[in-house]
Amino acid sequence: MKRLMVIGCGGVAQVAIKKACQNDEVFGELMIASRTKSKCDKVKAELEGKTKTAITTAEIDASDVSALAELIKTYKPDAVLNVALPYQDLTIMDACLTAGVDYIDTANYEPEDTDDPAWRAAYEKRCKEEGFSAYFDYSWQWAYQKKFQDAGLTALLGTGFDPGVTSVFTAYAKKHYFDTIDTIDILDCNGGDHGYAFATNFNPEINLREVSAPGSYWEDGHWVEVPAMSIKREYDFQEVGEKDMYLLHHEEIEALGKHLPEVKRIRFFMTFGQSYLDHMRCLEDVGMLSTTPIKFEGRDIVPIQFLKALLPDPATLGPRTHGKTNIGCIFTGMKDGKKRSIMIYNVCDHQECYKELGSQAISYTTGVPAMPGVFTTDEFDPDPYMGALSKWGLPWHVEENPTLVP
Ligand code: NDP
Repeated sequence: MKRLMVIGCGGVAQVAIKKACQNDEVFGELMIASRTKSKCDKVKAELEGKTKTAITTAEIDASDVSALAELIKTYKPDAVLNVALPYQDLTIMDACLTAGVDYIDTANYEPEDTDDPAWRAAYEKRCKEEGFSAYFDYSWQWAYQKKFQDAGLTALLGTGFDPGVTSVFTAYAKKHYFDTIDTIDILDCNGGDHGYAFATNFNPEINLREVSAPGSYWEDGHWVEVPAMSIKREYDFQEVGEKDMYLLHHEEIEALGKHLPEVKRIRFFMTFGQSYLDHMRCLEDVGMLSTTPIKFEGRDIVPIQFLKALLPDPATLGPRTHGKTNIGCIFTGMKDGKKRSIMIYNVCDHQECYKELGSQAISYTTGVPAMPGVFTTDEFDPDPYMGALSKWGLPWHVEENPTLVP
């Protein structure tokens, strides 16, 4: 029996919590700890009588290391699952080290305030060294590796779908389908429609920062940076159909490039409809995606945070979202002296996710993989994880010879 502490109580957290409670023979006890305790209590009340998992709730500001370390020491979980925001990754890692507990998250660290002088100086130095200018990179969290190793603890980073499952698909492809992998294209397709003119499927601040940043991909051992949304492809996704997709920077490219140096090119594409792109361009043009505070009627406001307050809460999109997601990886390479290409992918139906856990498929595909992640050990083998994915609700398929225009 596991005792899990979940930090955050948003769209992704609620999936992870409900999935854990469905599997109460595994998760005997669970604490929901987040900034707004009333949200944690609401989820607890929803689950009362439907699970044997003993749920407790707590209010915590996860950026307060000592308060969080105390809470972890008092509750004594087997692991802490961070499904708050990437801004809190480092403070939660520090608290886990202080309390001596394993750490799991679904997105790599980003600073909340990109104007912070210390962060900006380190960031600009790294951009210069690497010819790389996206906001997010793993250097901050990888710097913790030795501390976790010395403490005999595990920190499992980026264990949602992408990043997360896409890296496991890669390990599985390498183990069973290829002697060498030459290229990896990660394709993230959301064929769902929520009926709003504009809404984001997960935290708007994180989502809009991600898609408005310059695109980049890994080629021959280094980054190639391109203007945002400047590389477009079409792809005919199984069970969804033909969609336009655009190249983005994405964090797993960095991890895959480091751990699989044989791979010549790694790219990430996400599908967007024209209406989404038009709204985003307009918001960017008028300054609404800025993270720099402005004075408004005597108060400091951050434009992107104000925008977040106007947009629908992603956790409320479940009942109105219809259609399917298809997320997977296309691999090309060599097996037994012959060229080969495959796609490994999962298809998720928004309404089925809603019927099962009351959420749309984006939160579902992120929250569910974190559960098998709880059992990951240092000697990682993709096979048990791939088995667990199917068992926990994300069955996957392998398609031979997918067609993607290079
Ligand atoms: P939400 O905005 O819906 O939820 C975030 C939660 O974190 C809220 O409950 C919020 O509290 C809480 N929180 C924020 N700041 C703090 C703090 N300082 N202390 C404690 N709690 C805090 O986000 P999502 O559920 O959409 O996303 C969660 C994570 O999942 C993000 O990191 C996102 O990047 C990641 N993600 C990963 C994906 C993947 O495939 N790997 C895909 C999609 C998302 P409050 O209720 O008070 O606002």
